[in-house]
Amino acid sequence: AAKDGGRGRHHFYAKDLHSDAQERQQLEHDLRDAIAHGNLELHYQPQVRLSTEQITGFEALLRWKHPRLGYLSPAKFIPVAEDAGLIPQIGEWAMRTACHALAQWPEEVRVAVNVSPLQFANPALPAIVTSAIAASGIRADRLELEITESVFLGDDKSTENTFAALKRVGVRLALDDFGTGYSSLGYLKSAPFDKIKIDQGFVRGATISGSRNGAIIASIVSLAEALGMETTAEGVETFDELDLVRTLGCSHVQGYIYETPLTEAAASARLQEGISAIARGPKSARAPR
Ligand code: C2E
Ligand code: MG
Ligand code: MG
Ligand code: MG
Repeated sequence: AAKDGGRGRHHFYAKDLHSDAQERQQLEHDLRDAIAHGNLELHYQPQVRLSTEQITGFEALLRWKHPRLGYLSPAKFIPVAEDAGLIPQIGEWAMRTACHALAQWPEEVRVAVNVSPLQFANPALPAIVTSAIAASGIRADRLELEITESVFLGDDKSTENTFAALKRVGVRLALDDFGTGYSSLGYLKSAPFDKIKIDQGFVRGATISGSRNGAIIASIVSLAEALGMETTAEGVETFDELDLVRTLGCSHVQGYIYETPLTEAAASARLQEGISAIARGPKSARAPR
């Protein structure tokens, strides 16, 4: 498209924008179709307690098997869903589906569900969570909601009310992608988190405790411990990274070193088999399965 001589750049850019918008519109159309036909899936990635090397829970992660494009990352289609106003529907489906899967797993296992800032801003969230818990018959504290720092950009009073309501429901709360967003330590004072998830940006390539990433992980761990919260190191891929986060005192690990996100059936099988760290090498960013 760029090869039309003198008119070159401007023309190219306009055309590019046009096809971007078209692609997005097509994706939105396909996404509505996927919802209508039940073509969204949840996959479950084990979370492992380091002291016992046992699976304590799974993070539920959305997967969309697109008829032409194959599996799409939520990073690609969640923004589309947000723009199209489809997040409430998808979010509620994910909550119900995860609770339903959890109901078949042993009592001590938990499931963590991601809640986007848009979902969090919905005053109906506590009622939606309550209803998903009731429908599946699980104990409320087996459900953990993963929330990012960006919820604190919203209205203070309603954020506070939502936290209080969720605590009354009895679910656990995890602070996701800690340290990557709008970071203010002030909210840790009042927001009732049970766990801090250390973003993979700090974990990746962190192999020496004296490194900058090592120092950051160590300080997050000591902060979390002082506040009585657990810590999960996200995105651990190599034995070196595993050694480091263990040395620095992280209580849990989630990453390809143990397992990628699994289908519900494969997750159930994993609970039977148990888990052990496997060398996958540093370049293991592969397609979700
Ligand atoms: P997140 O909540 O921070 O999820 C962790 C992401 O890291 C997942 O990507 C997971 O597959 C990936 N990951 C886990 N271990 C490793 C590893 O060892 N190496 C690498 N390279 N990656 C690893 P995923 O599944 O593509 O999800 C991306 C984001 O999409 C999530 O980030 C979350 O913010 C959002 N998301 C996923 N599912 C849902 C959902 O059901 N609802 C909402 N609202 N958001 C979701
Ligand atoms: Mg998450
Ligand atoms: Mg995360
Ligand atoms: Mg993330």
